[in-house]
Parts: sequence; structure tokens; C-alpha cells
Amino acid sequence: LLLAYEPAKRLARLNVGIAESLAPVRALFNILDHPPSVTETDDQPPLQLTRGKIELIDVGFGYRPVDKVLSGINLSVDHGQRLALVGPSGGGKSTILSLVQRFYDVQEGSVRVDDQDIRTVSVGSLRHHIAFVSQDVFLFSGTVRDNIRIGRLDATDEEVEAAAVDAFADGFIRNLPKGYDSHVGENGVQLSGGQRQRLAIARAILKNAPILLLDEATSALDSESERMIQIALDKLVEGRTTIVIAHRLATILSADKIAVIERGHVVEVGTHPELVRMGGVYEKLYRYQFDEGRAEMAIA
Ligand code: ADP
Ligand code: MG
Repeated sequence: LLLAYEPAKRLARLNVGIAESLAPVRALFNILDHPPSVTETDDQPPLQLTRGKIELIDVGFGYRPVDKVLSGINLSVDHGQRLALVGPSGGGKSTILSLVQRFYDVQEGSVRVDDQDIRTVSVGSLRHHIAFVSQDVFLFSGTVRDNIRIGRLDATDEEVEAAAVDAFADGFIRNLPKGYDSHVGENGVQLSGGQRQRLAIARAILKNAPILLLDEATSALDSESERMIQIALDKLVEGRTTIVIAHRLATILSADKIAVIERGHVVEVGTHPELVRMGGVYEKLYRYQFDEGRAEMAIA
């Protein structure tokens, strides 16, 4: 099962309306677990997760063979650590998160989780250990409860609601006409961007995966949502191996390591003080692009 932008787009394209039961959801997500761009054989063993260490080794990738999007990428993030990716739009940050989930295969080098090349383990087992919270929150047509439960299909109602509480979603959900049984998606209740994100965070909390991939929102959220989302995310990253596409300075400052991604290359890696001292790309981003008022790196 996966919760991700790519499959969401596929889902939208398939134009499938999922109604009452979760069985079709499971079936559909199983199909979407195996996008045609990656293949696996029946005998691929499950990922043996020990620490949750992620490495990209000499990774090269392009969506089209002629157009390299990433070249010579070397990155690693160890158990429980936070790696923040920053850099101009189009540099390849989201693509890195896609490769770690094996939505696409690298053309050069390898992606390794706990020293296993992710092409050698089953796709399902890899994604089982990864929670992905992206900017584009996909809600399928169904109840709020079902939309949270796709984080873990066997979760009880109590577990779903506990996750919603931790994601600061319980309050607004209970204020919906039918609470957790309210329908969302087409013809359902309209949720704000901040509310949708809190549902996505609740899914991730429910999934409780050791690896967290996070694409921080750039879109303006109301300040109440923003504050709650931040508290929920801070709690979510605790104890997990995290790669975050960071837009907020607070996130960047709390990272164990920051990688500046520009035009498909890692141009600088270090902690905030190290990178500022270096006086390179990061220092310029920080000095010129950081907007105090919005507490965001405007360029990231
Ligand atoms: P960032 O997240 O840093 O803004 P992306 O990883 O989204 O960068 O994009 C890197 C490059 O890959 C961009 O040139 C973008 O247009 C291209 N790209 C991203 N996704 C796709 C895709 N699904 N198909 C083709 N090109 C893509
Ligand atoms: Mg992106």
C-alpha cells in the first residue's frame, strides 16, 4: 500500500470512484503499488529493515533517457536522522523522494535501504516501511475515516481517531456534518488545504513507518492550520529516518544535515552553521531568499 502523489495522479487518470468498501481500495492500491515503470519478480525477498538507513550512491536519473534530471547524487541519512533538501524549484528534490520509494528505477548507481539495493527487494515491503506526506494530498471519494485508514487498513476506529487527534484533525472532523463518516472528495464536504494536510499527517501517524519522506507545503495555509501542522509534523519525525524537502527555516535548522540540490546535483552538504560559514550557494539562499515574516526559504 502506498500513499503518494504519483499513484494519486494515476488514480485520477483512471477516473475510478471508490465508494463504500475498502476492498476495492486495497485492490486498486495494490495495482498502483506496481507502476509499469518498475518491475519485480515473484521471488524478491522482503526488505529486511534494521535501522532505516537510506543511501543514494552515484545516482543518475532522467524521466526521459536524454534528459538527465539527477547526476552523481550521493546522499545518506542514518537511523533517526533528518536530512533536509533545499534548492531552487526544478532542481530534482521531489524526484529524489520518488526514487527512494521506487516509483522509478535509477539509471545509474543505486538506492539502498539498510544496505539492500531497493531493486532487489519486493516493492510492497519497501513502501510498507515508508510514509510519504506530500504537498498534494489525495483524498479519494469516501468517508473521512476511510481516507485516514488507508494509512493502515486494519486499524480500528479508535486507532484512526487517535491518529486524527495527534494530527490536530479530530477537532475539525467532529465539526463536520457527519463527523468521521462525512464524505469527502467529489460531491463530499469541502476541506481546506490545511485540513487535507492534517488528514495526510493522520494517515502517516497511523502507518507508523520507520522512514518518513516529507514534502513541506509551499502553498499558503491559514496560520492556525500552519501552526498545528508544524506541531504534528515535529512529533511525526521524532525517532524516524526523515528526508524532508524543506521550505521552513525551523525545519532546516532542526535538520542533522542539509543538502542543497541544484540542477540535478548535490552542490553543498552540511549543517546550517557549516553551510553559512562556507559562504556558498546555501549562504546566499539564506541571506537573500529567506523571508523572516513568512519563516520560509522563498526559493526552496
Ligand atoms: P524540485 O522538486 O526540486 O522542484 P523535481 O524533482 O520536481 O524538482 O523536478 C526535477 C526536473 O524533473 C524538472 O525539470 C521537472 O520538470 C522534471 N520532472 C519532474 N517530474 C517529472 C515527470 N513526472 N515527468 C517528466 N519530467 C519530470
Ligand atoms: Mg518538488
